[in-house]
Amino acid sequence: MDMPTIQEDALDRADAVASANSGPRCRFCGGSLGVSFVDLGMSPLCESYVPAESVNAVEAFYPLHARVCEGCLLVQLEAFVSADAIFSEYAYFSSFSDSWVEHARRYVEMAVGRFGLDETSLVVELASNDGYLLKHVVERGIPALGVEPAANVAEVARAQGVETIVEFFGVELATRLVAGGRRADLLAANNVMAHVPDLNDFVGGIGILLADRGVATIEVPHLLRLVEQNQFDTIYHEHFSYFSLLSARRVLQAHGLELFDVEELKSHGGSLRYYAQRADTGTQPLSPRVEELAARERNLGFDTLEGHLAFAPRVHETKWRLLEFLIAKRREGKRICGYGAPGKGNTLLNFCGIRTDLLEYTVDRNPYKQGMFLPGTHIPIKHPDALEQDQPDYILILPWNLKEEIITQLSHTREWGAQFIIPIPEVQVV
Ligand SMILES: [Zn+2]
Repeated sequence: MDMPTIQEDALDRADAVASANSGPRCRFCGGSLGVSFVDLGMSPLCESYVPAESVNAVEAFYPLHARVCEGCLLVQLEAFVSADAIFSEYAYFSSFSDSWVEHARRYVEMAVGRFGLDETSLVVELASNDGYLLKHVVERGIPALGVEPAANVAEVARAQGVETIVEFFGVELATRLVAGGRRADLLAANNVMAHVPDLNDFVGGIGILLADRGVATIEVPHLLRLVEQNQFDTIYHEHFSYFSLLSARRVLQAHGLELFDVEELKSHGGSLRYYAQRADTGTQPLSPRVEELAARERNLGFDTLEGHLAFAPRVHETKWRLLEFLIAKRREGKRICGYGAPGKGNTLLNFCGIRTDLLEYTVDRNPYKQGMFLPGTHIPIKHPDALEQDQPDYILILPWNLKEEIITQLSHTREWGAQFIIPIPEVQVV
């Protein structure tokens, strides 16, 4: 197997540094984004599934190139897609996921107890979706306010009695709310900070809306887990920023917010829940967990530009191994099909150049996706029954974060001797 030589590695670095003098700027500090974190090539938007009637039409591809800011070390993508295009017609309803609703219920229980919230408090959630979280707040008789730009999901929240503003959140809306006498005693932002193109406007708004002794909790995927677990397929166009604790803390500080606690969560392959308060008036004690995790990140090199350069060669190695495996099995005449059609699968398949010669088709339980084609690769999406009919030798599990659940669901495929391929962190056959 060909490994990258030291010279090639050095050239990659030289290229990265040579292009450092021009080009895109950091969405947080305005610093240069000349240094590459990982370049996944040209890719379509990962949720733009192709219906049969459009399969011969032109498709839009955008660069999927994550870079590290030389000023603040925030890993990020340039925004090629407007927030309007992503969020205004959102098709994802949080309440469809039982585990996510349960996650929200436990969060509310914890926060109400820990921060002593009652009927005189105000809980605000940013990207409140269909009210999956705030309905637990309303049930407890605590005033709640959702902010959700997608009108169709906001309507569902209102129908459940959750007051919801249909707007994008930022400094302007926060200022208007405060002028109207509303400030947040608890402000929740789950899985939204990574997706906002104007990061400073968003975090600036949090700084304004938070009450003097209010607490903001922010859940966002953890860069350390992405790197450790080689989760390069969680990089996609709508996911603009990739935070380490060190980079997130810098952003919060710039907007007058102090990070006083942090929790590691299993959601989305490994997330952090940041707890922040106003630096000037907050009264929450500083947890030692913040400095412990910051020290762990520094040990792993997340405090230097150099420390971010080792990721790309590992991603290449993972791609080559997966392709070598698939090609070898196809040469032996084995049949390989996929399971699932998640957004992350599309990053993986497009970056690896996998087409129907290697992966015949994939199956998905979502009827909306059946009969459609994966963006870019145009691999067909079928009903899960297709696996029984065709009895493939291997099943590639694209939503690897759910692998235990899927392998249990598909245990009947063992009858004809099917084996499962897990692509991430590196190709593994189960
Ligand atoms: Zn920066």
